[in-house]
Amino acid sequence: MSAAFRERVVDLDAVAGNVARLRELVGTPHVMAVVKADAYGHGAVECARAALAGGADWLGVAEIAEGLALREAGITAPVLAWLHDPDEDFAAAAAAGLDLGLSSRSQLEAAAAAGDGSAPVFVQLKVETGLSRNGLAEEDWDAAFARARELETQGAIVVRGIFSHLSNASPEDDRAAIAFFERALASAAAAGLTPELRHIAASAAALSLPEARYDLVRLGIAVYGLSPFGGSAAELGLRPAMTVRGRVAAVRRVPAGKGVSYDYTYRTSGETTLALVPLGYAEGIPRHASNRAPVSIGGRTFRVSGRVAMDQFVVDVGDLDVQVGDEVVLFGDPATGVPSADDWAEAAGTINYEIVTRLGGRLTRTFL
Ligand code: PLP
Repeated sequence: MSAAFRERVVDLDAVAGNVARLRELVGTPHVMAVVKADAYGHGAVECARAALAGGADWLGVAEIAEGLALREAGITAPVLAWLHDPDEDFAAAAAAGLDLGLSSRSQLEAAAAAGDGSAPVFVQLKVETGLSRNGLAEEDWDAAFARARELETQGAIVVRGIFSHLSNASPEDDRAAIAFFERALASAAAAGLTPELRHIAASAAALSLPEARYDLVRLGIAVYGLSPFGGSAAELGLRPAMTVRGRVAAVRRVPAGKGVSYDYTYRTSGETTLALVPLGYAEGIPRHASNRAPVSIGGRTFRVSGRVAMDQFVVDVGDLDVQVGDEVVLFGDPATGVPSADDWAEAAGTINYEIVTRLGGRLTRTFL
């Protein structure tokens, strides 16, 4: 397939294969594929379907709107949404059969009132165990769990899960959070709650801390074939699903000492060929990668030369015989000899998560 002017290509077989591989690695009864933020830039609906085909049995999103979009696309699998607008109307979520992740007593009351009376609203209670984000605080556990049990007994809700989220600061920090989570589970049990799903691990802990796996793991980055630790995902048996590529828009032969792109942060050291790549920070290509990030043209790897601009950047390709229309790969599966999202993360001083999730603008998306 020849490259479009600028596009991200998402290999859905890689997504499905990664989920199958992860299922094998973690061995939990349930696997949730996290498809928030448009599946980290990979396409939420398509990736959700691929992940389910690969063996995921839950989908995770941050916002209810993201869950509703999955339902509108005809996806009927269980979905958990866990980050809500303070004025969120839970009725639409309840009607669509989304599980509501709840972090406060006021959310618990709102969720219990959101049903139409014909069926209970499914909720999962999030407890704060160290990340200092949302989740029920320890001092609220007893009262919140007792109230949840009362609402459950009345038929307003079913507490399907109790969950938390880890910092990945260190294995010791995560173990301390797990011990804290155990106390929350004991408090819930004392209140008479018997949730079917206990979960705390995302990709990093799912892969490195077996005691974090419980009944379900919530896997995001690993589903897309990138390592939560940075570096090689191939070592985990995972395949990057996304390739970002474009076509050379212009070629120019220039002498030594020629300034390139804004501010002339790059000057040619000899007579050379410059190729113009039509991708810029409007597409989410990080300007911080200027003069650093690798790109593959004609089977060889070069560097971004000069500043990444809004629509474009330049690559000094030396004596390579490059033509307008030739394919340029920014990153993809390094097993195919192209740079990786991790290479770009390193060049931009960030993490692979941000490199793929920030993409957008005029970048088209193609699915394989
Ligand atoms: N669970 C929660 C609550 C999250 O916010 C996220 C993502 O940030 C995930 C799971 C998935 O994390 P990862 O992509 O590291 O697997």
